[in-house]
Amino acid sequence: MLSAPQNSSSGSAIAASHAQVLARIAAAAQAAGRDVRSITVLAVSKGQPAARLLQAMDAGLGQFGENYLAEALPKIQALRERAPVWHFIGRVQANKTRPIAEHFDWVHGVDRLHVAGRLAEQRPHYAPPLNVCLQVNIAGEAAKGGMAPHEAPEALAAVARLPRLRLRGLMCMLPHEADVTTQHLLFGQMRQLLETANAAGLGLDTLSMGMSGDLETAVAQGATMLRIGTALFGPREPL
Ligand SMILES: *Cc1c(COP(=O)(O)O)cnc(C)c1O
Repeated sequence: MLSAPQNSSSGSAIAASHAQVLARIAAAAQAAGRDVRSITVLAVSKGQPAARLLQAMDAGLGQFGENYLAEALPKIQALRERAPVWHFIGRVQANKTRPIAEHFDWVHGVDRLHVAGRLAEQRPHYAPPLNVCLQVNIAGEAAKGGMAPHEAPEALAAVARLPRLRLRGLMCMLPHEADVTTQHLLFGQMRQLLETANAAGLGLDTLSMGMSGDLETAVAQGATMLRIGTALFGPREPL
């Protein structure tokens, strides 16, 4: 019997790498005594053309993380009918908040109240509230965005009061060179910041942490959203 021609070899490659990522998450969740259903995979699609995102959707991925507005907007337009969930995970420049507020479902990199205020003001009234995570520079790296950990409680309380936003939780990126012990320490500090905010009544449900290289530690420390690029799509071209 003739089989239907493969859509393309890379479509099945994404399906295979998605299955591998899910297996890693399942193993890490089981080791941590967590329900895998509490963990969501964002496919980090920076540098990937819209056609690859369609293949990813066919492979069961429905949420995409994009870092650059100019790159993301044409893809959002191209995939309009499939309507995936769009997450802005890059650095938010204050002069680019309007298109972000208009076209994305989530923003993970909010690290200044000024930016949160603009997103609240510019979120269209026809759209549901914009989901927001505050970024914490958990390792205190000079080159990374994010607020200092000690600033988080007050910033969370302030952003929680803004209209048109739904504050969901916290996001971080670890230093590239962090070993597993350091990963546990830093991700654990993120989890504590979230627990402190929830003890104060904020009702946050999201820890956006863990990437291709450190997802197991992130799951062990309570991550609810993993941002996975390379492990799904393969190595990126340098930008
Ligand atoms: C690129 C990127 C990722 C994905 O990184 P991988 O190591 O390819 O999984 C996750 N989060 C942010 C903020 C990124 O910029």
